[in-house]
Amino acid sequence: IVKYNDVTKSFGELEVLKGINLEIGAGEKAAVIGPSGSGKTTLGRMLMTLEEPTAGTIELDGELLWHRRDGDRLVRANEKHLHRMRNKVGMVFQHFNLFPHMTVLGNVTEAPRKVLKLSKAEAEERAVAMLVKVGLGDKLDVYPAQLSGGQKQRVAIARALVMKPKVMVFDEVTSALDPELVGEVLEVIWEIAEEGEMAMLLITHEMEFAREIADRVIFGADGLIVEQGPPEQIFGSPESERLQQFLKRFR
Ligand code: ATP
Repeated sequence: IVKYNDVTKSFGELEVLKGINLEIGAGEKAAVIGPSGSGKTTLGRMLMTLEEPTAGTIELDGELLWHRRDGDRLVRANEKHLHRMRNKVGMVFQHFNLFPHMTVLGNVTEAPRKVLKLSKAEAEERAVAMLVKVGLGDKLDVYPAQLSGGQKQRVAIARALVMKPKVMVFDEVTSALDPELVGEVLEVIWEIAEEGEMAMLLITHEMEFAREIADRVIFGADGLIVEQGPPEQIFGSPESERLQQFLKRFR
């Protein structure tokens, strides 16, 4: 469902990603781990159409994400195309980015109404179902300021799910939470993963979680994928020195 083809990304002189080839199958749960600054977030942000690749292409759901073909040349896709493609990706960030002036229900119905043009009743029906799923069926009329960090993050997850994306990108979604709130958020992600339909790209510092949830773990360092494989292999018998060193810190 997702394919990175020789993708590089530079910010000025700094080459953050140095040629990434990566495929994520439909329904596959891929966890990305690696040292700070290795480019994990940048990898996710390109799929979320928030950061444009410097070179290479990304395919999503059988279409080029950032480009279109013009004869045998590739040219940058227009905003309309990017906008349409963006709706295939559910995004959850470290900071919840909720609309503070809207209730929980308002936050979750906004995109279905504005983007999918659903009626208020249809959008609310979908939104309530998602909020119940993340355990917030009793918080519909509450404002974000009245919620804990874990609850806010669960609203953000419901807000992404309500659009029925093909892929969910979770970018370090527990990093800003108090430790005692991490569990409830991971639990919700776990349940969504169990349902199986959506592909997931999970960028995480939670090694235990990556091990439990992922079909495949991708270890990136210095802008390259150093090693990838099933969790048992990555955590149980890492091959590269780099990964062995990295994992030592979590023992
Ligand atoms: P962490 O685990 O700390 O979040 P990461 O692996 O997700 O790190 P990125 O956030 O992708 O790494 O950042 C990789 C590098 O790119 C860093 O050196 C960062 O400072 C740099 N970088 C990221 N975004 C930008 C930007 N918009 N402009 C300039 N440099 C950037």
